[in-house]
Amino acid sequence: MPVVLAASISLTACSRAAAPNPAPVEVPTTPPAITAPQTPTTPGVKGPITEVPGQSQNTGAKPDKPQQDPPTNAPVTPPPAGGSTGGTQPIGHVDPKPIIKWHPRGIGLPLTSDDPAAQGKKVVVLTFDDGPTDTGSTVSILETLAAENVKAMFFITGYGAKHMDLVKRIHREGHVLGPHTVTHANLRELSPAGVREELDPVVKVIEEVSGQKPKWLRPPYGAYNQSVIDIAKNDYGMEVLTWTDGSLDWEGTKGGYKDPNLVIKDTMGQLHPGAVVLMHDTLKHTAEALPELIKKIKAEGYEFVVLPN
Ligand SMILES: [Zn+2]
Repeated sequence: MPVVLAASISLTACSRAAAPNPAPVEVPTTPPAITAPQTPTTPGVKGPITEVPGQSQNTGAKPDKPQQDPPTNAPVTPPPAGGSTGGTQPIGHVDPKPIIKWHPRGIGLPLTSDDPAAQGKKVVVLTFDDGPTDTGSTVSILETLAAENVKAMFFITGYGAKHMDLVKRIHREGHVLGPHTVTHANLRELSPAGVREELDPVVKVIEEVSGQKPKWLRPPYGAYNQSVIDIAKNDYGMEVLTWTDGSLDWEGTKGGYKDPNLVIKDTMGQLHPGAVVLMHDTLKHTAEALPELIKKIKAEGYEFVVLPN
């Protein structure tokens, strides 16, 4: 079933619109140029994540201003079935490695688990927004993830979904798909009908490809409000998932490119147990940074998990 997708959409790094100017700032397709007002950074704080609308803990990265209105800084009810290292355990099957279920402590907060077996465990989620893209970086990222036996979450756009072969491959290789809107819209600025128009086609693509309804919505710019939360929940059964740890792969690029070592440094500098890391599979330097980044995260004793649909 073909889904109508918006054409000629400029790719926009997720974090752009967190700047004081609420208008989303469009930047050219991969990788973004510096046309946007830069997110104010706090001196001495590594990797401010101004897009994170909710609270952010242990990240050293507080948003300057919440993106949501009205502010809902209180953690939301955790999703009922956030899981991690696998699917449902088959009846009668004794898995030597029990599956621990993780869920965000709230929007923009690290993962937590009620399972006593989770005690002392360090987990991290890698999330990739804005793609997939046929420029090679999505494929490179998928190859790295496969080589390192790491599963991740991909939040796809309408223009990304034009590359159905890649969307299917992401699913086939065991990663989790979620919507990132058709046009990379700022959902806070839309009417309820407008929000549904941005979600419907991408949700349908994901259902078509995976046979499952997506459970997690990544709002562009991390921008949402109570209406977005309600529509996601009531109309689609989705939870809003932002991030706690920005790789900053969108910031400080020169000619659209950034030293991959800086992406590694920024990510490691903010890493904390339960971190939800925001990256972009549309960016070449992110693809280049990933092999070593994963090795470094593993060396710190972290396990990679996803929140399944
Ligand atoms: Zn984005």
